[in-house]
Amino acid sequence: MNNSFDLKSVIRPHILTLAPYSSARDEYTGHSGVFLDANENPYGSVTEENYNRYPDPYQAEIKSKLSPIKNIDTKQIFLGNGSDEPIDLLIRATCTPEKDHIIILPPTYGMYEVSASIHNVHIDKVSLTSDYQIDVEGVLKAITQDTKIIWVCTPNNPTGNVMQDEAIVTLLNQFNGLVVVDEAYVDFTDSVSWIERLGQFANLVVLQTFSKAWGLAGIRAGMCFASAELIKILNKIKSPYNISLPAQQALLEGLGAVDKKDEMVKEILKERTSLRTMLENLSFVNKVFPSDANFLLVHFDDAKAVMAYLIEEAIIVRDRSRVHLCEGCLRITVGTAQENEILIESLKKYHQNTVTA
Ligand SMILES: *Cc1c(COP(=O)(O)O)cnc(C)c1O
Repeated sequence: MNNSFDLKSVIRPHILTLAPYSSARDEYTGHSGVFLDANENPYGSVTEENYNRYPDPYQAEIKSKLSPIKNIDTKQIFLGNGSDEPIDLLIRATCTPEKDHIIILPPTYGMYEVSASIHNVHIDKVSLTSDYQIDVEGVLKAITQDTKIIWVCTPNNPTGNVMQDEAIVTLLNQFNGLVVVDEAYVDFTDSVSWIERLGQFANLVVLQTFSKAWGLAGIRAGMCFASAELIKILNKIKSPYNISLPAQQALLEGLGAVDKKDEMVKEILKERTSLRTMLENLSFVNKVFPSDANFLLVHFDDAKAVMAYLIEEAIIVRDRSRVHLCEGCLRITVGTAQENEILIESLKKYHQNTVTA
C-alpha cells in the first residue's frame, strides 16, 4: 500500500475545480416520456434503424453487465471511445503541457507517446531490459517531481511478454503518481488481471479493450478501471456522449456472449501454438519470442525483404525491424488456421525464390 499517494496532488488544479457539462438527459433517467429537452428529431432517423435519441452518457446498463464479469464496482469503471480515449484523458487530467512528464518503457505501445506529444507533455524513456522486463532501478531514477504517469503494458506490445509482478508492485509503492497497466492482451494470458489489486493501490489504473479478444475493434470501445475518485474525474472531462448508440448496442449484445469470446480466445491460443511451430520450422526464422498475446514477434534473417515480399502477396504484418530491441523482427498477428497456412506457404515460396535467385 502506498500511503503517501494523494490523487489531488496528481490532478491538474483547474481540472479538480472544473464544473462538467451537464447534458440534457442528466436530470431524467427514465426510459419513457415526452422528450423535448435535447433538440433531437422526434420522427426518427434517415436510416432504417432509429438512432435519433442521444445515448446514455455514462453507459449505466453496460457497466452493470460488465461489473460482475470483471468483479469490480460500476463506480470504478470508465468506458471510452477505444483505449485511446482513456489514454488521452489520463494525460490531460494529470499533465500540464510543457511542464509535466510521463515515463514510458520502450519498446512499447505507440499511443502513450503520441498522446503525450499532442499535449506537449515531456516523455522520459526507460528502456526495457534485454529480456523485455522493467528496469525498476532505471525507472525509479527517472522519476522527478513533475512525473505524473508511468505506463506499463502487460502483456507488452510488441514483445508479447508479461511484466514481472514485483516490478510493478515496486513502482506502485515507490511512485506517488499514477501507474497505468495496459492489459489489452490480458485475455490471452494465464496471469490474473491487475483489476484484483485496485483495492490495494490507489494509484493503480488498469486499461482493457474490446478490440482484441472480444472482436469489437470496429466499434471503438475501451475500458478503464481505477479508484472511484479518479473515474469521476475522467467522467468529468470526457466528451458527453463518448460511446455512440450503435456501439452501446453492440457492447450489450457482446457482454451477453462471454462464452463466444472464450471460445474464440481458445481457438486463437491453439492457432498461436501451431503458427509458432510452423514458423520455427523455417530455416530463415531465427527466433519466435514467447508470447502471452495474440501475436508473435519473429526475428528473421532479413526482415525487410520478408516484409516486402509479403506485401507483394497482399499479406500484411507489422514491421518492427527498426524498433529499439526488436531489430530484425516482424510482429505477426495470429490469424485463422487458413490465414496462417497462407502466410506459411508464402514464406516458403519467398525462401525458394531467394535460394534459387
Ligand atoms: C490494441 C491495443 C490497445 C487497444 O486500443 P483500442 O483503442 O482500445 O482499440 C490498447 N493498448 C495496447 C497495448 C494495444 O496493443
